[in-house]
Amino acid sequence: MSAVISVTEVRNALRCPRVFALGRKLGRPVAFPVGASALGATFHRIVESFARSVSAPPASWTGLGAHAESDKVAHTLRCWVLDHLVRELQSHPHLGTMPAEVDDLAEALRSFAGFVAGQLASFDTNPAAALQSLFRAAELELRASVPISESESVSVGGRIDAILEHARGNLDAVEYKLTDEANAELDAAQVTLYRYLVRQQLGLDAQPTVLRFDPKLTVTRIQPEEADELAHSRLLPLVARMVAWARGEEPAPATTRKDLCAVCPVRVACAAEYRESLPARDDPPAGAVRSRPEPDGSLGPDAASGTADVAGTSTREEDLAEVKALERKLQQVIRSVGVPASLVGAPAVGPTLVTFQISAGRGSVQHLDREARDLEHKLVTNHGVGATYEKRGGVRMLTMVRAKPREVRLPALMHRESAFLKERPGRLVLGETTTGTVLTVDLGAPTSCHLLVGGMTGSGKSVLLRAMVISLAHYHAPSAIQFTLVDPKRVSFAPLVSSIGSHLANPLCYECEDAVRILEGLVDEMEERYRTFAGMQVQDIDDYNDSMPGAELCRRVVVIDEFQDLVLSKALRPSFEEAVQRLGAKARAAGIHLILATQRPDAKTVQPGIKANIPGKIALKVQSPVNSRIILSEGGAEALLGRGDMLADLGQGVVRAQAPLA
Ligand code: SF4
Repeated sequence: MSAVISVTEVRNALRCPRVFALGRKLGRPVAFPVGASALGATFHRIVESFARSVSAPPASWTGLGAHAESDKVAHTLRCWVLDHLVRELQSHPHLGTMPAEVDDLAEALRSFAGFVAGQLASFDTNPAAALQSLFRAAELELRASVPISESESVSVGGRIDAILEHARGNLDAVEYKLTDEANAELDAAQVTLYRYLVRQQLGLDAQPTVLRFDPKLTVTRIQPEEADELAHSRLLPLVARMVAWARGEEPAPATTRKDLCAVCPVRVACAAEYRESLPARDDPPAGAVRSRPEPDGSLGPDAASGTADVAGTSTREEDLAEVKALERKLQQVIRSVGVPASLVGAPAVGPTLVTFQISAGRGSVQHLDREARDLEHKLVTNHGVGATYEKRGGVRMLTMVRAKPREVRLPALMHRESAFLKERPGRLVLGETTTGTVLTVDLGAPTSCHLLVGGMTGSGKSVLLRAMVISLAHYHAPSAIQFTLVDPKRVSFAPLVSSIGSHLANPLCYECEDAVRILEGLVDEMEERYRTFAGMQVQDIDDYNDSMPGAELCRRVVVIDEFQDLVLSKALRPSFEEAVQRLGAKARAAGIHLILATQRPDAKTVQPGIKANIPGKIALKVQSPVNSRIILSEGGAEALLGRGDMLADLGQGVVRAQAPLA
């Protein structure tokens, strides 16, 4: 085993211990795709070359006196940093083929210069001297000894991006990141480990700090006590276990993040290396595993006839062959892990997923739970089937991804729910659930009167939004429901204009300023409607419409795709947030509804004031558990399949469904 464990290896082991162990075995570093900016390495090179040049600054910089205006300092610094970018572009001409990335890189460097200028403002000395003090170290190699037992230590080493010393003498151990916050936990662990190494090697107390350029800067400082707790409770024990895994003294466990297996660069090596887990000594022999009652592995008489009752729906004939094959794979894997478990009842068959109920049989449920991760892992690595084990009260379920998903079509779903949709405007179809039922929404209900939709590129967000609008409009006249569609990217709603043009209250809205004006107009309309309701002593739009046949009010639905463009604009954000809060709080009864969608469901976009006033939550595939929690208040959406696979919380718990194609 190499004498040094690198900080990068610790980061890998936090993602998946087996990635680290296999990297050691294969003798090469293994890294997952991390969603980094393509120019992350270039950014690091530029900032390093800038930090190394602070002792020999350009004349424009040395000319600044101790009382130079802060704007001038910031401007001069920005020019200096961007000079380094220009030199980089000259020496790497291929960068010119990536103009969008270079724009982001320049923006990140401007943010970096702004951050540095801000730190210099608190020094009493002139900017040149202050800058030299600030950059105490850059790209510094660190190495320290970590005890792994009473008698043994191991070296841990890495290269920290910078150590900054502020005017008051306090230090930051700094990592620059160009990835988004999907990796925030790993970044925090990494910089925490650097704090430990800085203290061990240099005897300095530096606060772990992540400077994230996305491309705007976010500064995350970890409290020293919190960092020390993380280091001693998690990171240093992990290092000790990494030594045991590398030496083969212990088998490295699989990751808890099943979504990583699908993109893992050592998936094949993992399947070969961890082919069988040894059963615990008191486990029954594999031969004791009981399969389902049907000895031929069939789905039972109901399923075989194609009429298996699954939560009130019917399994289709064409699904059966695939379901049987999945069942056989699952039984095989259950046997291989040595759990005396069996499958119970008919599986729930959805368009993209099949869910089996598992009984622990003669074994204990705890034993089954312990083997769950191995079950999932073997299904992925040995059979190429994504699977998720779930506990629902006392019931254990395993959901498997179908290799041949059934296409879900909007017209069929609308036909199945036509009575519900026709009854009142404001009702729509979201998709088909994993048990084959149609998932619908009533905008008239308090728990789903406004909807927040989050999903990354490729998640199927635009397709879902179009299906929602079509199903809202299909059975109702333009006098009953009117839409305002805001589409800053100009790609989501254009295909709808020909089919629902007469339902549009305004032309498609492309400009954020116009969107804010429309929302403010709706706030006025809401207040006007309430004044009318008060005069007629009715509670809401339904009461009003019942008492005014022939003069009904229409429901108004505003759909804003990519609403982050409104939140991230300093000028528009206050008006936008105020309008959303006022409409979110009381527009339901007035028949005005918001559907806000974003591909960036992060803390900056989904502000608490927005989240609190939008009760219905729909998460398509997102980048990280953090994004999932921001929408649903729980993880899970990061492991969705994309292309319309969604989790929806409409006030009755989270439901998984597949969005339809129009
Ligand atoms: S396939 Fe999954 S468990 Fe195996 S090394 Fe890769 S991420 Fe880890």
